[in-house]
Amino acid sequence: MTTSFQALVVDQIDGKPVPTVKQITQADLPAGEVLVAIDYSSINYKDAMAITGTGKIIRSFPMVPGIDFAGTVVESRSADYQAGDKVVLTGWSVGERFWGGYSQMQRVKAEWLVPLPQGMRTQSAMAIGTAGLTAMLCVMALEDAGVKSGNIVVSGANGGVGSVAISLLARLGYEVTALSQRPDENRDYLLSLGAKDVIGGPEWKEKPAPLASQRWQGAVDVVGGTVLARLLSEMDYGGAVAACGLAGGFGLDTTVMPFILRGVRLLGVDSVMCPKARRIAAWDRLAREFAAPAQAHMERVVGLGEVIALSKDFMAGTSRGRVVVDVNR
Ligand code: NDP
Repeated sequence: MTTSFQALVVDQIDGKPVPTVKQITQADLPAGEVLVAIDYSSINYKDAMAITGTGKIIRSFPMVPGIDFAGTVVESRSADYQAGDKVVLTGWSVGERFWGGYSQMQRVKAEWLVPLPQGMRTQSAMAIGTAGLTAMLCVMALEDAGVKSGNIVVSGANGGVGSVAISLLARLGYEVTALSQRPDENRDYLLSLGAKDVIGGPEWKEKPAPLASQRWQGAVDVVGGTVLARLLSEMDYGGAVAACGLAGGFGLDTTVMPFILRGVRLLGVDSVMCPKARRIAAWDRLAREFAAPAQAHMERVVGLGEVIALSKDFMAGTSRGRVVVDVNR
């Protein structure tokens, strides 16, 4: 089929990634079992890294970024999917190693897809997206560690993972504190998501003492670095931190004290390699426990042409909530 459609393609020119919205055809797409007509993708931190050329996240050029998408199957060589099925994709290094969601059409492996949960719209799926899936996986990790109530702190609160995590945890009955670099500026938004309190300040950029007063039964951390080190020092005895991000750095300068003297657990959470059964369970829970009205005020819909400029906000740490990309706009 030679009909062209739009895609955001990152080429490498003079050693630098150069993103452009251009017309491509099905013949340009990679091989794959399932051809999907994409409705929506979203902007996640990794997409912003890919588009701005931060951290060499793209493994081969040209690349279509977009680490997640939701749409409708057009053609399938897999028995698991038929034309007309609604599907969601997150993870599997799509948008880094394999072509992703910033395109009106994409061809992928069937095993990378999950069925869109019953009753969920493709736009809602991408308002949740990889960030929301990761937030849910963090909540599930805390639950598995026995943290089923109490004081929970969420870092990187203003961003995608943080926003969904606050909203989810508040709906589940936890007492949620939002931790933000700019607590005063973001207070109203974070309280509207369900946070009971908003904290933050210059001390979160300093190396903490090995142990401090116990404040939290659980934490969801997307920042890493000194923030994660301080959270570990402030956990209650037996508390757990679900760590999934490194927006503030990948170093971790801490001691064994929180682990030995307070039995603190550090739970790594990754949505890319997450087993399919857990991925489906997480999406089903998101469909049940994070219905559309809950997301409306944290969601913004943009066209493919706006992604390049918005990626700079993500890298500056100033993006708020979830940014959904309507690839047909
Ligand atoms: P966003 O850019 O939407 O949010 C990140 C937030 O972190 C910002 O809004 C800001 O919140 C805070 N922040 C940003 N930079 C800094 C900094 N230098 N120091 C301290 N805080 C900072 O990104 P996402 O929510 O999409 O992703 C967050 C992190 O989680 C990234 O590292 C990403 O790679 C990771 N991630 C991991 C996944 C996994 O599967 N493990 C999946 C998805 C994301 P505030 O202003 O409130 O402080």
